[in-house]
Amino acid sequence: MSDKRKKALVIAIDGPSGVGKTTVSRRVAKALGYSYVDTGAMYRSLAVAADAAGVDIESDTALRDYCARVNITYDAVGNMLIDGVDYSGSIRTEEAGALASVTSAKTPVRDFLVACQRRLGEAGSVVMEGRDIGTVVFPDADVKIFLDASHEVRAARRHKELAERGGAVASDVSKKIEERDKRDTQRKNSPLVAAKDAVVIDTGSLDINGVAARILEIVKERTGL
Ligand code: C5P
Repeated sequence: MSDKRKKALVIAIDGPSGVGKTTVSRRVAKALGYSYVDTGAMYRSLAVAADAAGVDIESDTALRDYCARVNITYDAVGNMLIDGVDYSGSIRTEEAGALASVTSAKTPVRDFLVACQRRLGEAGSVVMEGRDIGTVVFPDADVKIFLDASHEVRAARRHKELAERGGAVASDVSKKIEERDKRDTQRKNSPLVAAKDAVVIDTGSLDINGVAARILEIVKERTGL
């Protein structure tokens, strides 16, 4: 494989909420000198922005109109701006996750954001994380990883993450994760599922360093990078 080809890899990292995707994906991108795209942040930002604009997030037509009129740009660190507004400070709550999980089941939203994601990844040298990167966004990704862990492990991690952020932690974090997982896996549009050719890694028994090291090993085995 030529150096040029090696530099243009797309690495897809998918999995359910609370599995450690974001921290691991950032680490892998940094180790490879690649850019990193958090597609969950895109779904969260769009959902929060649409809700704030008074859009009926249950309505396909309203969401289609909204997507057609917004202007998407990115700042220097890769945050998606919607009509020039950076929502990244207000998207890390369970409420924003729940809004995103409703709007992300809607075809107009998926069509719109998948097109944005393909544009961001088309030049390669990118680690992209989400739910459908290896199945829909980049079905030809050079390396596909699916991170998984038991519901209990993921709920405990999400609880810790929210507590560390300093906000109030609802007693029903575990139930909320379960609801979101259910919506994400049972929706008609791009349900959360491991690609047939993805390497599945159970993150329950490994720490962040261990998972990142395992992914870098897989990248090396598969691509020589
Ligand atoms: O990964 P994160 O928890 O930030 O994603 C928030 C929500 O966005 C998910 O629950 C899912 O409904 C949606 N999502 C998606 N497809 C992606 C990334 C996120 O449907 N590629």
